[in-house]
Amino acid sequence: MKSTVPLIKSDVAADATNTLRPLTHPLEQSKEGLSVNATPESEQWRPIPGFEGYLEVSDQGRVRSLDRMTYVSKSRGGNPYWRRHKGRILDQMTHPRGGYKYITLSGGGKVRPNAKVHHLVLEAFVGPRPSGMECCHANDTPDDNRLVNLRWGTREDNEADKAANGGSAQARCKSGEHEYTLENTIHLKNGARRCRACNRRDRAKVNERIRQRRRSDPAYAEECRRKELAAYHSRSGEINARRRDRRAAGRPA
Ligand SMILES: [Zn+2]
Repeated sequence: MKSTVPLIKSDVAADATNTLRPLTHPLEQSKEGLSVNATPESEQWRPIPGFEGYLEVSDQGRVRSLDRMTYVSKSRGGNPYWRRHKGRILDQMTHPRGGYKYITLSGGGKVRPNAKVHHLVLEAFVGPRPSGMECCHANDTPDDNRLVNLRWGTREDNEADKAANGGSAQARCKSGEHEYTLENTIHLKNGARRCRACNRRDRAKVNERIRQRRRSDPAYAEECRRKELAAYHSRSGEINARRRDRRAAGRPA
C-alpha cells in the first residue's frame, strides 16, 4: 500500500541548481526544490491543473515532475519508510503523423493519458480551453510549444496561420516524416499542400498493386494492354495530324 504526498520541505539536495521556481507556487510552498535538470532562470514554470504539487509545465514547452516523498508502508520484511523521488524533466513522445508532442501524466493518484503538451502549456499559462477553440501554433511547427507560439483560437484562425506560413520550411507533412521545403511541396489548386515524398511513396504503392494484379489476373492484364495500345495510337495519331497541319501551312514538318 503506497500513498503519496507532495514534498514540502526545505532540505533540498545540495546539487539543486534551480530552486527558485519563479511564479510557480504560493509563498508557503516556495521552498520546494527541484533537484535535477536545471532550467534557465528565464524559463517560467506553472503547475499543471489537476496535478498541482506533482507536475509542472514551462513556457518553453517542457514538463517536469517535482520532488516528492512516497510513504512505503509495507517494505519486504522491514519497517515502513519515506522514499524520496527527485523531480526531473519528463520525456515527451512525438505523434508519428501529427508531429506534435504528447505525454502521459500521473501524480497524486490521477492519470491523464496522452495529453497534448501544447494544451498543457495553454491550460497552465492562459486558462482552460474555451469550447469550440483549438490550439494554434503561430509558426505552424507542431512541436514548437513555446508559450509565445501558442494561443487558443478558432479553426479559422488555425487555417489562417497555415495560409500565412504557406511553404514554411519548418512545417511538416501529415506523416510527420518530411518537411515542407520548397522542393518537397506540391501546391494544389485549392491552396492545400501535398508532400512530394509522401506523394511519390503513395503512387509507388498504387503502381505496385496494379503490377501485382496484372500478374495474377489475365483478363485485367489484357484490358491494360488494350488501353495502352489505344493511348499509343491516339498519341501517334495526334502527332501525325499536327505534321499534316504544318505541311498544309507550308512549313517543314
Ligand atoms: Zn511526407
